[in-house]
Amino acid sequence: MQIQAAIATRPEDPFEIKSYDLESPRSDEVLVRMVASGICHTDIAVKDQDVKLPLPMILGHEGAGIVEAVGSGVSHLQVGDHVVLSGDSCGVCSKCQQGRTSYCDEFVERNLTGCRVDGTSPVHEHDELVNGRFCGQSSFATHSVTPGRSAIRINPDYPLELMGPLGCGLTTGVGTVMNALQPKPGQSIAIFGTGTVGLAAIMGAVLSGCTRIIAVDPVASRREMALDMGATHALDALDPALSDEIIGLTGGGADFSVECSGVPAAVAVAIACLGRPGMCAQVGATPAATIHPLDMDHLGFGRGIKGVVLGDANPQTFVPYLSDLHAQGKLPYDRFVKYYDFADINQAVADSKKSEVIKPILKIG
Ligand SMILES: [Zn+2]
Ligand SMILES: [Zn+2]
Repeated sequence: MQIQAAIATRPEDPFEIKSYDLESPRSDEVLVRMVASGICHTDIAVKDQDVKLPLPMILGHEGAGIVEAVGSGVSHLQVGDHVVLSGDSCGVCSKCQQGRTSYCDEFVERNLTGCRVDGTSPVHEHDELVNGRFCGQSSFATHSVTPGRSAIRINPDYPLELMGPLGCGLTTGVGTVMNALQPKPGQSIAIFGTGTVGLAAIMGAVLSGCTRIIAVDPVASRREMALDMGATHALDALDPALSDEIIGLTGGGADFSVECSGVPAAVAVAIACLGRPGMCAQVGATPAATIHPLDMDHLGFGRGIKGVVLGDANPQTFVPYLSDLHAQGKLPYDRFVKYYDFADINQAVADSKKSEVIKPILKIG
């Protein structure tokens, strides 16, 4: 079938919406008609080649849509199901068996090459392969052929056009706190960078019962949004006494920190502000081969840093959980979403880079 999709070709060129041919789903795949897709910072980082994945590629990995065809081997979905799309995983390696699908042995091959593991893609242009399998979905498109494992059924009463960001940004932020750090009620947490992931981490900290939630961001409007989402304090990332302020506010250092920006200076403060013991979760996308020095005396007192992918979550169970939380008013991320027509994808990216929007969502169908 013919589809329309936004292709990223070179950092200096805008996304271009073009026609492509899409294969029918294989036995383990489904065809999804895209209703909407969030734009995530990672899409922009790949487009700009700050994260060097192969271009040209159809990006997008926060898709939400309706199932239009189901492969013979997919038993958990039916035509007409409302689905959120998330990352792909093999389902058989030891990590997948434990439900830790974001650490799948084939995570890179299945999500970051733009192709299936056999090197093919469901998208073609004049019989030439087009990278159309980004994060299992390439959701900047009117339709996607996606692995059944990437498609998560949600309640059809929920607003589908809003649900796509549950597949990456919200899962990453909430999951990093609730699954990877697991704070106890009354503990403290500092969150660096209050884009979608950081704001989701704040909401995860509220849900976990943290009573000191310190948001750090250089943008005043984002600090205000952080307070709206439940942060108890919001500090300017450019404050030279930042680490001491956090240590003061937490009575000796934060129990946990989440670093969402990938900026090395923020990583340093996110570790320096920890109490004894304390754990920093690193989720910000950093350029390849980023090296960061660590004060080993500081770490020696029970402190640590860990990388977290997709919130240590199994999307098949975590995304429906988050959708229920939203329906109950406990995850009010709709307050920092702005909708754009699919044709205005380049405007949405530009607004995101200028911090004029926190979570852009493309309305596609
Ligand atoms: Zn993402
Ligand atoms: Zn696996």
